[in-house]
Amino acid sequence: MMDLCDYKQIQALLSSTEGFRFSKAKGQNFLTARWVPERIAEECGLDGHTGVVEIGPGIGCLTEQLALRAGKVMAFEVDELLKPVLSVTMAPYDNVEIVFGDVMRRDLRREVEENLGGLRPVLCANLPYNITTPVLTHIYEARCFDTVTVMVQKEVAERMCAHAGQKDYGTFTLLTQWYAEPELLFTVDPECFMPRPKVTSAVVRLAMRKAPPVDTDEKSLFRVVRAAFNMRRKTLVNALEGVCGKEKARAAVVACGFSETVRGEALTLEEFAALTETVMNY
Ligand code: SAM
Repeated sequence: MMDLCDYKQIQALLSSTEGFRFSKAKGQNFLTARWVPERIAEECGLDGHTGVVEIGPGIGCLTEQLALRAGKVMAFEVDELLKPVLSVTMAPYDNVEIVFGDVMRRDLRREVEENLGGLRPVLCANLPYNITTPVLTHIYEARCFDTVTVMVQKEVAERMCAHAGQKDYGTFTLLTQWYAEPELLFTVDPECFMPRPKVTSAVVRLAMRKAPPVDTDEKSLFRVVRAAFNMRRKTLVNALEGVCGKEKARAAVVACGFSETVRGEALTLEEFAALTETVMNY
């Protein structure tokens, strides 16, 4: 069996691949520390009844660990130059399907229904860091996964898991927590990749919610949230001026029991939902 995290083996595989160069634009930082894909796959809680969607298999080091534990793995890879490598490295695994193309253009809910039917659907990936936020939003909006376990930049992981009042708390925190309950599992140093990224990474597991945690209109809620964090340093009353006018904003903030000088960063998701309801009903 090949060791897909071994530096020399990775180099040998890639040097025989015509035209391949690590692409920054595609976020290509491949894992070279075996314990990392092993631990990520372990944290997914897989068994023969689980179907895994992976984004960006690269040469397949995480894919292999998923294939050893799950019923089926479906992996989306944008870089067609990796086709010959993956056809060799994934040859021993008949439960792996590699689909070449941009995952952002795929209807993930439909892919899961058509290809992982009957299995418990989960997502697992060492994500390309340059498109982390749009990819995660795409995954959230698919609303078809039981859990999502992803490696992202540590800063992004902290943003996803932050609480009201913390410096990392913002729109992406609230979006994440609207769809899921996130947990930061462990960090991974740059030395564990080739080429080495400039940042530390972290693995987050998201238990996806079956229903939103609060009963409010999602579009209106995130209009209020975005306005609040676009002008983070302003009071909520001033930040919401563009949404509903200053007087209505002041009345809604006070009616919800907050001081007129409160800032958006102090409000929990539930409090933002209550404020949204009040703004809409004035
Ligand atoms: N899974 C491998 C590992 O852990 O070593 C590679 C992870 S690397 C951080 C990200 C992978 O995502 C690369 O293989 C890259 O080509 C792929 N990728 C980047 N953008 C993508 C997209 N839009 N759709 C599918 N795959 C993408």
